[in-house]
Amino acid sequence: MKFFEKILIANRGEIAIRVMRACREMDIETVGIYSSADTNALHVRYADEAFCVGEAHPSKSYLNIERIIDIAKKSGAEAIHPGYGFLAENYRFAKVCQDEGIVFIGPRSKTIQAMGSKIGSKKLMKSAGVPVLPGTDDGISDIEMAKKVAIEIGYPVIVKASAGGGGIGMQIVDDENALEDAITGSMRIAKSAFGDATVFIEKYLVKPRHIEFQVLADEHGHAVHLYDRECSIQRRHQKLVEEAPSPIMTEDLRERMSASALKVAKVSDYTNAGSVEFLYSNGNYYFMEMNTRLQVEHTITEFITGIDLVRQQIAIAAGETLPFEQSDVSIRGHAIECRINAEDPLNNFAADPGKIIRYRSPGGPGIRVDSGIHMGYTIPPNYDSMIAKLCAWDSTRPETIKRMRRAISEYIILGIKTTLPLHYAIMNSQQFIDGNTHTHFLQEEHIIKSLDRYKRDEEARMQTLAGSFEQGKKVAAITAAVNHYIQQKKV
Ligand code: ADP
Repeated sequence: MKFFEKILIANRGEIAIRVMRACREMDIETVGIYSSADTNALHVRYADEAFCVGEAHPSKSYLNIERIIDIAKKSGAEAIHPGYGFLAENYRFAKVCQDEGIVFIGPRSKTIQAMGSKIGSKKLMKSAGVPVLPGTDDGISDIEMAKKVAIEIGYPVIVKASAGGGGIGMQIVDDENALEDAITGSMRIAKSAFGDATVFIEKYLVKPRHIEFQVLADEHGHAVHLYDRECSIQRRHQKLVEEAPSPIMTEDLRERMSASALKVAKVSDYTNAGSVEFLYSNGNYYFMEMNTRLQVEHTITEFITGIDLVRQQIAIAAGETLPFEQSDVSIRGHAIECRINAEDPLNNFAADPGKIIRYRSPGGPGIRVDSGIHMGYTIPPNYDSMIAKLCAWDSTRPETIKRMRRAISEYIILGIKTTLPLHYAIMNSQQFIDGNTHTHFLQEEHIIKSLDRYKRDEEARMQTLAGSFEQGKKVAAITAAVNHYIQQKKV
């Protein structure tokens, strides 16, 4: 069945292509948008038609609501898929789409708004009986009050922006002396990044695990969960490696956590795809937030459940009823995703955009690569540094890890620095193999040591290469001289 004739994809890079692929399989035409920095991007070529949406800066292109709506109307797109990032969790955008008679492929505007506030959503979940971490119930307006709450819950605490995302504006505070500065600093960052200075504090868990549940809900009151993902391996509070299911999941824990996730979906009147994020520590879990969009890591859920999340999103947005019930959804095997970022893991993850001079992506059984890059492509410096997602599936976790190692060693990306060496170190770490991860895993001694070793090896490789290059130059010079002599003498 054809749900829409034409969909506009209000995004770029791998996720724009991911959505377009689903559309192509569903016989739906696609409209792409691109900024002046993305004229040569793959998603522009993949789209059935594509329009320039503005200048490189996101505020002038991928965040330009008026222009995007204009293109949707001009091209005759009936629906807009926002991908993730950019306008995906902008309730105003969802509302404008609705007002203009364009279907927004995501939850309702009011749900996005309610869940966009970490304070508001925490309050809602607490009243519904979902466990949350102790902290201030409202935004901090009074430092003395914040100090009182921090003493009550005990240090360390974390200061967070209510409208926050991408780990921006978070500050960990170990004692009272640092609290006031952290709050004012966090407010300043929140104001400039999200236009909302509201911050709150909650108990900081020292080495928790990040576990989330994928949910799907239709407009007719049916909601199912698609199991869990473990996303504990992070840098700057942002995920780098995800796996599904979580290696520590037990039947009992899954039953409790999935019941909470479905409760979150129910009390927020949720529709479409979403993820309920929890922190887990010492047998307890706490609701952190709900992401009202398709996640980067949806791929691994697709691997273990066999359900195409983008197809389901499109069908739900068209008013369809979910075609399966909870009892129809089961887990098959294990999947891992490694985020390949144009960053230098040996230099504090400094962004390293630039030209890709050699590119070969891995393949074979159980491997999926979602990317927007290719040989000769120049990564623009204007956007997120994630350039590809490497996913592996196999029937057990140990086999998946081995498969991922094999895929990483097949992956060639030259010309820029990437997170690939770090992923290789992680996949070879005994602690990871044992499933013993937490949100500070990348600061573990053995990971740092293994990266250091890689750095030394790389330097040695470079020296050898430089040596043979010099050697090569000498040989070439001698050959040229001999040739010249031969020609002169007509030997
Ligand atoms: P954002 O929306 O900015 O991505 P989240 O609330 O989803 O922020 O948190 C991102 C990450 O920050 C978590 O996965 C975790 O590593 C860390 N974090 C957030 N809150 C806490 C907390 N209370 N204790 C420990 N770590 C936390």
